[in-house]
Amino acid sequence: MSERGILVILSGPSGSGKDTVLNRLVEVDSNVKVSVSMTTREKREGEIDGLHYYFVSREYFEKKISENRMLEYAEYAKNYYGTPAEPVDEMLEQGKSVFLKIEVQGAEKIRNRYDDVISIFLIPPSMHVLEARLRGRGTEDEETIQHRLFIAREEIRKAYDYDYVVFNDSVECAVEDIKAIITAEKNKIGRNKKTISEVINNV
Ligand code: 5GP
Repeated sequence: MSERGILVILSGPSGSGKDTVLNRLVEVDSNVKVSVSMTTREKREGEIDGLHYYFVSREYFEKKISENRMLEYAEYAKNYYGTPAEPVDEMLEQGKSVFLKIEVQGAEKIRNRYDDVISIFLIPPSMHVLEARLRGRGTEDEETIQHRLFIAREEIRKAYDYDYVVFNDSVECAVEDIKAIITAEKNKIGRNKKTISEVINNV
């Protein structure tokens, strides 16, 4: 029988590399799963329903809220974004480490609601690196880049509320750090009381 898995929040400003790090983590650790969020925003080019998001209507999303089937949700840029509770619960039951890639407000809601959640804040090693990454995308004008940098600074201030910080200077190092955090969390006494007592009682 596997122990119940661990719920992990991963937040970080745009350009911090959350997607790259999580994609790599999923590749190297088969026990890691990433929750697929639900959103009412329009599908962007290249996005696949059920893979990047579940794209739904406002009506459908509000129904799920009223049925209490969202673990958390937030309204962001006039659209709903949220985490469907059921798949997360199933994956946790299977003993998986379930990652929620969510912004800081959603993270705060989850932390207030559940004691047993680990939160990790991913940040670039410096604002210069973040700026270079945002410019490197080559998709945004100067004003947008400055605005994103401003928002990133505000978001990084929230890092103090998290349990762990991971500095993403290289993807491999960030992945190693996150794996180490999961291992340490799995070995906490509080998560292993049943197993310890089984050892004592020779079960
Ligand atoms: P985008 O539209 O660029 O895909 O996402 C906009 C923002 O919504 C990002 O900051 C992203 O992390 C956040 N987000 C995505 N899924 C969820 C979710 O399930 N819950 C919350 N609270 N935020 C989410």
